[in-house]
Amino acid sequence: MNPAVPIPFISQLDQDEERTWIEALAAAMPNEKIAGLGGLGDADLASTDLAIVANPRPADIRRLPRLVWVHSVWAGVEKLLAGSDGADFEIVRLVDPELSRTMAEAVLAWTLYLHRDMPAYARQQKQRIWRQRPYSMPGQRTVGFVGFGELARASAELLTAHGFPVMEWSRSKKLTPGVETFEGRDGLSAMLPKADIAICLVPLTEDTRGLIDSGFIAKMRKGASLINFARGPVVVTEDLLAALDRGYLAHAVLDVFDQEPLPAESPLWTHPGITVLPHISAATNPVTAARIVAQNIERYRKTGQLPRVVDRARGY
Ligand code: NAP
Repeated sequence: MNPAVPIPFISQLDQDEERTWIEALAAAMPNEKIAGLGGLGDADLASTDLAIVANPRPADIRRLPRLVWVHSVWAGVEKLLAGSDGADFEIVRLVDPELSRTMAEAVLAWTLYLHRDMPAYARQQKQRIWRQRPYSMPGQRTVGFVGFGELARASAELLTAHGFPVMEWSRSKKLTPGVETFEGRDGLSAMLPKADIAICLVPLTEDTRGLIDSGFIAKMRKGASLINFARGPVVVTEDLLAALDRGYLAHAVLDVFDQEPLPAESPLWTHPGITVLPHISAATNPVTAARIVAQNIERYRKTGQLPRVVDRARGY
């Protein structure tokens, strides 16, 4: 705990984005010096116990031998975990109510997009078809969250307020008023057949990689839809494509992919059953995120206490 030592901000962002972050962090922490790696000398790097990071290169992190913890400004930390395997510093990820609000807004937007049949009306317009499709009320459209952490909980509140029945599946048992809860693999098998829209918000871990495969999809209701706002590799793309092609699933909204940007030759771009989004469901807001990071660092400076840290064994 040495406030005299500057705090490195380590990222692979371009110069402008990195400058935006450093300015936001400096504004939120006027008593700290925040600097990019290029602005710090070897002595600073050798003594710092803390860094703020946005998907840093593993080699850059290794330049800080006395690191006690890093604060990520992203919510998902799977790359940071993989890149620091074997290291003993703690990882704190971003938990920001503004990020949760942004994700909740996206969940509501794309749930309504599916609920109000927008993909089908877009197809009809292309073919100049004037046809009114049957209307269902939100109460007739059940949404199942796959993963029910910070982002999904805020999203569920908004969906519930709009009249959608909400269910959740996660690792541990929860008691959330108004939300039907399921846990464990048996719980997943029980929830999926009841969902009209499944919304994926689990972190990418060893357990969740490939979770949404042909077996998972087979448990979903015929004609159901999927929204993946988590990470691409949670979904087995070929299995999803096969289910859409044979008309088992109605539609998939994908914001995240195995490879980003999504390569131009990917069949996902042109598939009529898929809506492609360029990883925009919940972008971190540097100003609100910097305030959260500042609070966490201030507490650490005063008390030596770290915020809740990522469980390296669990992967999130
Ligand atoms: P979180 O608070 O850590 O919640 C994760 C949830 O997933 C928890 O409910 C957890 O269960 C559940 N879970 C994890 N592993 C599981 C497993 N093996 N089986 C069942 N449930 C499991 O994470 P968050 O802040 O909500 O963020 C979720 C993810 O969203 C991030 O990891 C990131 O990948 C993604 N994200 C995407 C965007 C975007 O723009 N597309 C933006 C931000 C984040 P427990 O509650 O039982 O622990």
